[in-house]
Amino acid sequence: MKGPIVVRELAEVLGVRPNQLIAELMRLNVLASISESIEIKDASRVAEKHGFTVEREKKPEHKPLPVKKETKEAEVAKERAIVELLRPPVVTVLGHVDHGKTSLLDRIRNTTVARGESGGITQHIGASTVGTGKKRITFLDTPGHEAFTAMRARGATMTDIAIIVVDAQDGLMPQTQEAIKHAQAAKVPIMVAINKIDLPGANPDRVKQQLAGIALTPEDWGGSTICCLVSALTGQGVPELLDMILLQAEVLELKANPGKPATGFVIESQLESGMGPTANLLVSNGTLNVGDVILCGPLCGRVKALIDDHGKKLKSAGPATPVKCLGLPGVPQAGAAFEIVADDKTGRIIAEERQASEKLATLSAPKRASLANIFDKLKENDQVELNLIIKTDVQGSLEAIAHALKQIKSDKVTVNIIMSGVGGINANDVLLASASNAIVIGFHVSVDEGANRMSKKEGVEIRLHSIIYELVDQVREGMTGLLVPLLREKVIGHAEIKQVFTISKGSVIAGCMCTDGKITSRCKARVKRAGAVVFEGVLNSLRRFQNDVSEVKESQECGVRLENFSAFAEGDILEFFDVERIAQTL
Ligand code: GDP
Repeated sequence: MKGPIVVRELAEVLGVRPNQLIAELMRLNVLASISESIEIKDASRVAEKHGFTVEREKKPEHKPLPVKKETKEAEVAKERAIVELLRPPVVTVLGHVDHGKTSLLDRIRNTTVARGESGGITQHIGASTVGTGKKRITFLDTPGHEAFTAMRARGATMTDIAIIVVDAQDGLMPQTQEAIKHAQAAKVPIMVAINKIDLPGANPDRVKQQLAGIALTPEDWGGSTICCLVSALTGQGVPELLDMILLQAEVLELKANPGKPATGFVIESQLESGMGPTANLLVSNGTLNVGDVILCGPLCGRVKALIDDHGKKLKSAGPATPVKCLGLPGVPQAGAAFEIVADDKTGRIIAEERQASEKLATLSAPKRASLANIFDKLKENDQVELNLIIKTDVQGSLEAIAHALKQIKSDKVTVNIIMSGVGGINANDVLLASASNAIVIGFHVSVDEGANRMSKKEGVEIRLHSIIYELVDQVREGMTGLLVPLLREKVIGHAEIKQVFTISKGSVIAGCMCTDGKITSRCKARVKRAGAVVFEGVLNSLRRFQNDVSEVKESQECGVRLENFSAFAEGDILEFFDVERIAQTL
């Protein structure tokens, strides 16, 4: 592919000094000065050493329109935009308790340390990067779908690939299934690590069979789910698992532009003695530099220092890199998004605005989906979705309910059962509902204390039932409520303004004669002058002989005041109308 890649620009996007890049190029027998361009193959070779791949953006199919001759700056900016780089994948490990999530993460870190790939003592910063160069993978340190979904409920989508760990002896357990549903709800691709294959009772084929039973058929069984046999204890299969993650990442074509200012999320945050507030961040895109003005939720500060997962101080951190960041004036919320702003002043203004709106927001729980209010949120859409999480006492009732809900036919509302399961409603169900804007429905089950607390905090609706047809009726009602009611206007009467009075405090009354129909105190009105509508609004008061009245009939005189309008003129025609809401059927 053609097109110049200037050394200076490449150094900038890779986050290295131009001199260093020139030296690296020399080692590849490429001689280029800072302002010279190099071949894409040479750019790729050096970029690879820093963990990136250079790719050309595809040219648009259509013929470009003729453009003005561009300025030097515009050309440079364009050049920078063309350099698109593959970034390392961000991986989360999920699965049933005791199936070996923590052990596997530890083993992965140790394996790579043993191979001399990253070295050094690991620091806990909420995520760790393993591997080198192009072959880097970032693992989020807190395994389990609780943490995963809690982040998603805050709006943080960090994970590219979910590894479901399954004990080869125990097979799929309730929490395994739950973890799978959480990953699927988040639309994150799933890979399976069948763990503990060192145990004599290990039966990986049984696990594969179970996976096939829930539409996750393994690749070697003709499906598309990547399954790796591993032992976190002995390390067997772990390098292959890492290779498969990298392969999957290549397929996903995860890209980022390190030339842009950083954006990303807070993994966790704390107050540390000697350091003050620190935030462990994951850079999703762009590059975070020491000295940048960082805006994170309602906090704004200047990045004082960046520390990686080996305790090393960094000057900058590129895409998919976890770093501890010093310099924020307070402890941000886990899951909060961060961005870089141009200067202190801009950052401070936005932070102050956010502080003010946060104060207001703390007075009420966030508004999530509910059977009653969901249509308000989705008014503009022709096609709406009602997301449900269903928990029941036994498997049989689950199937009966799912079947009954499928019988509700509607081409306007789709019912999505995001997750269903047997057992009481717990905090995880509520978290998933919050992250997916869903309603939790329970059938013959109870709600535990954690779920109750969480539902209040997150504003998630929980509905409990003990009769199936009542449950189905309620969902149907909710779906009807989901439909935007049709609004129909009905003109009820007209009046002509005979005289305009200004009374105390400047309020203006139109003295009128009702010429046809009627006027009611609750209707709406529009003011017409020479055939054109000059105002439309609601009635403030309707009076006859100084008294408030609820209705005025044809040929009667009255005084009308409108809300937010006083510019009446004699001869104006007032048209009065009601707005009817007509509920739609499914
Ligand atoms: P987690 O709850 O999923 O994080 O599971 P842990 O990593 O804490 O592991 C639970 C138990 O299983 C621990 O006692 C581990 O030592 C053990 N374990 C984990 N992986 C393996 C393995 O590959 N083989 C064997 N034999 N034991 C394992």
